Amino acid sequence: MLYPNIILVALGGNALVRKGERGRFNEQVANLSKIASHLVDLSRRYILVVTHGNGPQVGALYLQQETVKDVPPMPLHACVAMTQSLIGYMIQEALNDIDPSLSIAVCTTRVLVDPSDPAFKKPSKPIGPYYSREEAEELQRKRGWVFVEIPGRGFRRVVPSPKPLKIVDLPVVKSLLGKVDVIVAGGGGGIPVIRYGNGFKGVDAVIDKDHLSSLLAVELNAELLAILTDVDGVYLDYGKPSQRLLKKLTVDEAEKLLDRGVFPPGSMGPKVEAAVKFVLKTGRPAVIGNLKNLKDVVKLKKGTIIEP
Ligand code: ADP
Ligand code: MG
Repeated sequence: MLYPNIILVALGGNALVRKGERGRFNEQVANLSKIASHLVDLSRRYILVVTHGNGPQVGALYLQQETVKDVPPMPLHACVAMTQSLIGYMIQEALNDIDPSLSIAVCTTRVLVDPSDPAFKKPSKPIGPYYSREEAEELQRKRGWVFVEIPGRGFRRVVPSPKPLKIVDLPVVKSLLGKVDVIVAGGGGGIPVIRYGNGFKGVDAVIDKDHLSSLLAVELNAELLAILTDVDGVYLDYGKPSQRLLKKLTVDEAEKLLDRGVFPPGSMGPKVEAAVKFVLKTGRPAVIGNLKNLKDVVKLKKGTIIEP
């Protein structure tokens, strides 16, 4: 069956934890509550699929694994799985507070990555606590972890950030279309897995949630991919006195700016790349905008619209 009205909303880190907060459970639900009524409203007009980041949450869980000595530590990919449930549950709480009859499915979502992805040779994503040189060297010997030195702060583990190839649990997500009001899937970029035996095995990596959101939106043939973050959209000369917000960006223009390396990797770069991929593959628009303006961003009245 074809569902014409799917909208994919990708929530950035600020949907859950704001600057200066420590990420207490109640804080995160309260932050979600600020946008909950708009999400509920969207779920009445569209089939709403929500993806989200998990940086602070997976960082905290991972730190718990490494610092609590009485129970065995869970690997990073298992921590990603835990945050998918945790954040999905917080979204359920915030949305059901507005409408208790709303049915919200939270999908544990595994995502296939290529073990020969060049990202595995160049771990780039820092996670978890800071260690001293001695601790880092010992962990490197014992567990094969890779570290970077962050001047003045110590050593931090870095993990690869490979590209998502295929959403393993996509059939499960698809089976829910039209059956529930809201689907939360692909949290934290998905649980990275590689093929192993007859099935799959988790790997210690972090997939960018923007790339995963784009892939999921393409697979679901969504009407719109909306990436919500903490700035009003894509700026030229970002951070300079001459900065200006781009209201519209064609795929060609966006690709030229990406080629020129205007957008930093790990923040605006993956968002623009994700939007371009979605637009190229579906011919539909994508929008990057401020979470605060969610209501207008999904109507394409605010934010940067990327179009064919
Ligand atoms: P999220 O959690 O939503 O993924 P990120 O921090 O990864 O948030 O990306 C959003 C950030 O990208 C903004 O806070 C901003 O500092 C940064 N950024 C870098 N370059 C640009 C740009 N050209 N236009 C807008 N924001 C930019
Ligand atoms: Mg990000």
